[in-house]
Amino acid sequence: MTAFWTESDFDDHEFVHVVHDRASGLAAIIAVHSTHLGSGAGGTRVWHYPDPKDGIRDALRLSRGMSYKNAMAGLPLGGGKAVILADKNRTKTPEMLTAFADAVESLGGRYVTAADVGITEADMVTMSKRTSHVSGLPVEGEGDAGGDPGPFTAMGIYHGIKAAVRHKLGKDSLEGVHVAVQGTGSVGGGVAKLLAKDGAKLTVADINGARAKELAQEIGGEAVDADAIMATPCDVFSPNALGAILNDEGIARLDCPIVAGGANNQLARPEHGKILSDRGILYAPDYVINAGGIISVALEYLARRDGVAADLNEVRKRIAQIPGRLEEIWQESDTSEETADVVADRMAAKLIGR
Ligand code: NAD
Repeated sequence: MTAFWTESDFDDHEFVHVVHDRASGLAAIIAVHSTHLGSGAGGTRVWHYPDPKDGIRDALRLSRGMSYKNAMAGLPLGGGKAVILADKNRTKTPEMLTAFADAVESLGGRYVTAADVGITEADMVTMSKRTSHVSGLPVEGEGDAGGDPGPFTAMGIYHGIKAAVRHKLGKDSLEGVHVAVQGTGSVGGGVAKLLAKDGAKLTVADINGARAKELAQEIGGEAVDADAIMATPCDVFSPNALGAILNDEGIARLDCPIVAGGANNQLARPEHGKILSDRGILYAPDYVINAGGIISVALEYLARRDGVAADLNEVRKRIAQIPGRLEEIWQESDTSEETADVVADRMAAKLIGR
């Protein structure tokens, strides 16, 4: 038994497939955590890891995250993730993508891929020439699911914030509710615009200051320095930029009763869920509130594979179920000694038979 199987990121993964194609120079890892609910689905990341073991760890950690995310999104899909171990320049050739797609095809649908960091829609099209086990292809018809997942992720977070405000502040309306949005990209920008329509008061920030200012002007909000956003007194802090922002220092700076946003892996370490809760802050588990994008992308794939309904109405209907799941988590957390992140993990584990 080698070292990485004994480390904490290995959590009874069903299989880890190591791909090496000498002709194209492709080296990749495909990790499938669970196929209990269906094909192990999750994106492919192209990244340079000075130590390849870090790539294996990423694939293990991220595939487990996808099992939990897909299960809590109510999708008939398991969790998987692939990592292409790139060189320093993150070289990615059509030959490498073709060899990678052949490896995906050889798994017979036990792994379904999608785009992640370093993979474009055009790359997905290249892969789709060799395997049908791909999601995130260009939208075919008007009103069909799929395409850029960002706006769908934003839609789910908007619903989730409304649910958090109802649960924690007892308010049914967002009128005058102050939300501080960190990151004004695809997700954060979309969330801020939806909240503004409901009359929320918005403070936004981005390391790209011009981007934040432009958004603030468009929605009638205020832009502040990226360094200041976490300490902004507000009703809701919505992280939509980086992960691990909920660390000792970050949590100490918060001046709000709710954290609800789309960034992946917000808790720096598991104990930070408890630190948030001890400060009386309601937390919306990230992989539950940010599932809107995967719901859209997954339906696009399932429509092609199984012929399930996958128009925009179906996507919206499923995204509108996110608040109900959050409410269930918060209620269980309120009546037990467990924090929301622990309750969510337990619910997800149960759904995948663990
Ligand atoms: P994006 O690249 O479009 O936007 C991210 C924005 O955050 C950029 O404008 C960037 O300048 C800004 N930023 C980076 N560091 C910052 C900092 N320290 N302070 C303030 N702003 C900072 O990315 P996105 O698609 O909007 O994704 C945002 C987050 O949501 C990521 O954590 C991503 O993993 C997560 N997420 C995205 C989706 C999706 O559908 N796009 C789905 C699930 C989760």
